[in-house]
Amino acid sequence: MNCVTCGEAILPERAEMGFTYCTKRECVRANARGLRVIEIGQTKTNPEYVVLEGAAGERALKDMREGKYRRDPVVVKRERPAQNFEVPKVRFRKPTVRRPQPNRVKFVQALQAQGYGVDEIVRRGAYMNLTRSEVIRYMTARRR
Ligand SMILES: [Zn+2]
Repeated sequence: MNCVTCGEAILPERAEMGFTYCTKRECVRANARGLRVIEIGQTKTNPEYVVLEGAAGERALKDMREGKYRRDPVVVKRERPAQNFEVPKVRFRKPTVRRPQPNRVKFVQALQAQGYGVDEIVRRGAYMNLTRSEVIRYMTARRR
């Protein structure tokens, strides 16, 4: 069997699978057609995909028409909010706020005053592990 586009021979395995074109890029571009695929959403698991072709595709379409994949309405049991309300007994730690170290803030703001940009300040502050977000924070911080 030969390719419908370029006329060269097609691999027998390929012809057996029903292809009428070879694997050359131009021939694939000219002849390949996309598959129509539907996604069927599932509850609590990955969606199912069905190629809408052949018997399986027909069956999937029929099932969809008949409402097989329609989700059942979710019924939520309601309780009165006042009942069974338990105050959580966990005590949360206060978040630790790390105060910026004044020397780092000064360093950034001094360079900023000299007209250096963020990148340059980050580069110059590399020796004290100054991070980019720190630099930006200190540049926009209120001066003390
Ligand atoms: Zn070809």
